[in-house]
Amino acid sequence: MPETKVALVTGGSRGIGKACAVELAKAGYNIAISYAGNDEAANKTVSELNQLGVKAKAYKFDVSDKEACSKSVSEILSDFGTIHVLVNNAGITRDGLFMRMSSENWEAVINTNLNSAFYMTNSVIKQMIKQREGCIINMSSIVGLMGNAGQTNYSAAKAGLIGFTKSLAKELGSRNIRVNAIAPGFIQTDMTKDLDTEKISEHIPLKRLGLPEDIAKAVKFLAVDAQYITGQVIGVDGGLVV
Ligand code: NAP
Repeated sequence: MPETKVALVTGGSRGIGKACAVELAKAGYNIAISYAGNDEAANKTVSELNQLGVKAKAYKFDVSDKEACSKSVSEILSDFGTIHVLVNNAGITRDGLFMRMSSENWEAVINTNLNSAFYMTNSVIKQMIKQREGCIINMSSIVGLMGNAGQTNYSAAKAGLIGFTKSLAKELGSRNIRVNAIAPGFIQTDMTKDLDTEKISEHIPLKRLGLPEDIAKAVKFLAVDAQYITGQVIGVDGGLVV
């Protein structure tokens, strides 16, 4: 019998990460999700994943903490045996105009959205190299491509993820490890719940915000189908950035 593949989705308890976990579970992956503090959402997601017939477990740790990432990945490897797909998805916003941007808000966003990808990838990479197979998907954003007033910290982190993706893809291609990024537009999650969706939709060629499932389908495509795609940034934004 072929080995069941394993995917680790950071921030997989809610929003986009949850949709990615569900889509990968539907594709037959066993799923490890990480989250920061909302136990209720994490437990609910794990039971939904279990109902899809796969093994699933949630791990509470802060992705901006290097030691916690390394320790938790060791635990996941011991629970699941391996990791084939890593989705670096966990992220936060701490918006504000640059003139008023505090060091705390700058560092929180860079640490949680960008340094986390280094910590998590660093922790899984040996296993992927050993098994000569791996797929890393970094959740960037359209603002990493085009910038956004009030989000210098967030855009810098998301642009950083794109450079990280392209360079790592070049380093790891020969090891059969693919590294890609997704650049979502405006997606309906808790992160965007306070935005004026009607006004934003007017500026989107497809005239609606995206759903977490729209991103999850791209993640499943990159993980399962896109065996000759690496180093790419896939826009899933309703046509906002063309
Ligand atoms: P969300 O609904 O706010 O969910 C965030 C997830 O990340 C939750 O599972 C949360 O755990 C986890 N998380 C937050 N900080 C963490 C930390 N320090 N350590 C570990 N886990 C942490 O966010 P979302 O809208 O789904 O966004 C997911 C990703 O897509 C983010 O990287 C975001 O920047 C990116 N993105 C989103 C949009 C959008 O329009 N929504 C657009 C472009 C890019 P808890 O539940 O425990 O807090």
